[in-house]
Amino acid sequence: MDLNSLRQLFTFKSIFEGLEDAVICHDLDFTITNWNPAAGRFFGYTKEDMIGKTLFSLMTESYYPEQKEMMNNLLQRATINHFFTKRITKDGHSIPVSITLSPISDEAGIIIGASQILRDISEDIIAQEQKAILAAIVEGSVDAIISKTLEGMITSWNKGAETIFGYTASEIVGKHITTLMPPDKLHEEDYIINNVRQGNKIEHFQTIRMAKDGTRIPISLTVSPVLDKAGNIIGVSKIARNITALKQADIKQATLAAIVESSDDAIISKTLEGIITTWNKGAENIFGYTEAEALGQHISLLIPKNRLQEEDRIINSIKNGQKIDHFQTIRMRKDGTELQISLTVSPILNGDGIIIGASKVARDITAQRQAEQALQHNTRQLLMLNSIGKSISEQLDVEVILQKVTDTTTQLTGAAFGAFFYNKVDEQGEAYMLYTLSGAPREAFEKFGMPRNTAVFHTTFSGKGIVRVDDITKDPRYGKMAPHYGMPKGHLPVVSYLAVPVVSLSGEVIGGLFFGHPSSGVFKQEHEDLVANVASQAAIALDNSKLFEEVTALSQKKDEFIALASHELKTPLTSMSGFLQLMQKTTPEGLNSKFLDKAVRQLEKLNTLVNDLFDISKVQAGKLQFYFEDFDLGLLIQEICETFEQSVPDHTFVYDLQGDLLMNGDKIRMEQVITNLIGNAVKYAPQSPKIDIQAANKGNEIVVSVIDYGAGISKENQSQIFTQFYRIRDRDKHISGLGLGLYITKEIIERHSGRIWVDSELSKGASFIFAVPCRQQS
Ligand code: ADP
Repeated sequence: MDLNSLRQLFTFKSIFEGLEDAVICHDLDFTITNWNPAAGRFFGYTKEDMIGKTLFSLMTESYYPEQKEMMNNLLQRATINHFFTKRITKDGHSIPVSITLSPISDEAGIIIGASQILRDISEDIIAQEQKAILAAIVEGSVDAIISKTLEGMITSWNKGAETIFGYTASEIVGKHITTLMPPDKLHEEDYIINNVRQGNKIEHFQTIRMAKDGTRIPISLTVSPVLDKAGNIIGVSKIARNITALKQADIKQATLAAIVESSDDAIISKTLEGIITTWNKGAENIFGYTEAEALGQHISLLIPKNRLQEEDRIINSIKNGQKIDHFQTIRMRKDGTELQISLTVSPILNGDGIIIGASKVARDITAQRQAEQALQHNTRQLLMLNSIGKSISEQLDVEVILQKVTDTTTQLTGAAFGAFFYNKVDEQGEAYMLYTLSGAPREAFEKFGMPRNTAVFHTTFSGKGIVRVDDITKDPRYGKMAPHYGMPKGHLPVVSYLAVPVVSLSGEVIGGLFFGHPSSGVFKQEHEDLVANVASQAAIALDNSKLFEEVTALSQKKDEFIALASHELKTPLTSMSGFLQLMQKTTPEGLNSKFLDKAVRQLEKLNTLVNDLFDISKVQAGKLQFYFEDFDLGLLIQEICETFEQSVPDHTFVYDLQGDLLMNGDKIRMEQVITNLIGNAVKYAPQSPKIDIQAANKGNEIVVSVIDYGAGISKENQSQIFTQFYRIRDRDKHISGLGLGLYITKEIIERHSGRIWVDSELSKGASFIFAVPCRQQS
């Protein structure tokens, strides 16, 4: 071997030894003849291990035929480059390899073996797989994944980009990226490219891009440089995410947040353990804690001690997924004051629907409650006032009115005691007259002429209006007079003082209502208003009662006069009628006797009138006397009719008596009744000469009707004719009468436990009917 060949050999050897790839030489029967260090590193065997060993020890049996065929092909002079197969290392790993097989020939050119260069391609395979995965990801992504050159030319376009922007890959690849930019965003491209050129990544850049149809799409952009193996920037990859929904959610979120923040209600969220996690302005206003003070605290911060168990109940409901609606309760402010709230608590669910906390909306209903209570209070007071007003206006007895007024106003004002004093001074001109008292015994005032005519009381009685003082002992008008200079010792201590004058319609101060309480500041504006209201009603009632008293006094005088007059008249009448009857008997027939008869009849009329007057005064005095006996009403009617037939011969009196007509009563008074009714029939139906009198036993009672066929009585007059002094004036002016007969008749019938009424129609006559009980069979 010449030097040159030798040098060449060494050169090859060093290449062979220094190669990164594993090189194995073998002869035709696959016995290994050479083994470089890289093969050692690859398989884990040393050269010494392998020289002389068969090549098949580096593969599983299934690969033997492949190896043999490769060799055969090589012998056929085929070239075998980058044949992919697998080999087994010393430690048993199967490694993908790429084999390039070259023949080894002797000097004569006959192939005596082969050299194999093996390259580990596991990384290539992984890289390939990754590439495939990446491609799949890119294709499957809902985001737009786009690449472009540094000059902005679009080079790749995935399905996501197609969906978002509406262009297909074939439409857009090769176009400039500004195709996707609305004119007002074009300037962004420079900024993006500049960043990318400097090797920077832009992340989550929110902007607007334009779809094929021109719609503006809010997107979040992530832009990265694409580097070649040498690290040079060769392009740009962009991921664009459509954030329309996100934007909408953002808007929703922001709106919700604004609502929560601007709400007057306290909106609070807490964990299931009760720790406060959010706290809005409303909560701050209602409870007085700032957000910073409240966050992280336990909700019991707001709960009064005696209501702590409510929280357990609330949390239990929430854990069971139940909402609590409008639960009215009490909570506590930072300053310790309590407030009434209406609470709505709802569970907060996470994305998986698991309850993770509670949101509370608390509304301060203190004002609402107060308004409700005030309304209830006012309604109660109005009702009370109304009923007081009604009950005092129904009263005509002054003492009862004043006692009622004093009692109710004392109760309404919460006074320790109340009193009404008349605006009349006593004989010494010193003390106003005490009339009624409430809440304190009269003895409490006995030693003390109350109220004395002092500066304090003078205000009320002199018509200067209401006096309401929180502490009368500090009033300048108070305690200026001897002997007490204020309240006498042992007297009811008055600190709160309220005095309301009772003023009549004419403006006269009738008196005053006075209230006292040993504590200060008890009487408020509302008490003052209440008493003023009752006082004005009382004044009206007092005015009325005064009027009534005057009328009663007048009518009493009239009654006394009638009683006296009728009594005085009766005496001369009785003697006159006695004398006239005597004269009738002694005077012979003739003109004088006719005059005498007339005089007797007129005297009888006069007698009836005076008797009626006499009776009426007795009725009014409650002194009309009755003497009850059993008698036959039928017989009585018969007798009366016979008398009438004689005295009024131009009338016929037809009586019809049916059944047992026995009754128990005052026979003379019953005669008065029947005579009066028949007399009226004669008087008021002079043109119709027939008068029917019917009496019948109707089981329990006897019903008697006196029927005439005269002018009759109109409906409106029917209800009046039984009252005293009532006459149908126009029509009966020329007929003598006082309008007392029917009044007395009614009184007599009613005293017999009976009833009387009239049945009549104008110009069709009148039936006066009465019913009295039959005599009770013993
Ligand atoms: P007097 O007959 O004294 O007026 P009464 O009390 O008996 O009083 O009757 C009251 C009024 O009733 C009479 O004035 C008369 O107008 C009317 N009246 C009574 N009876 C009849 C009757 N039978 N027909 C029509 N009017 C009558």
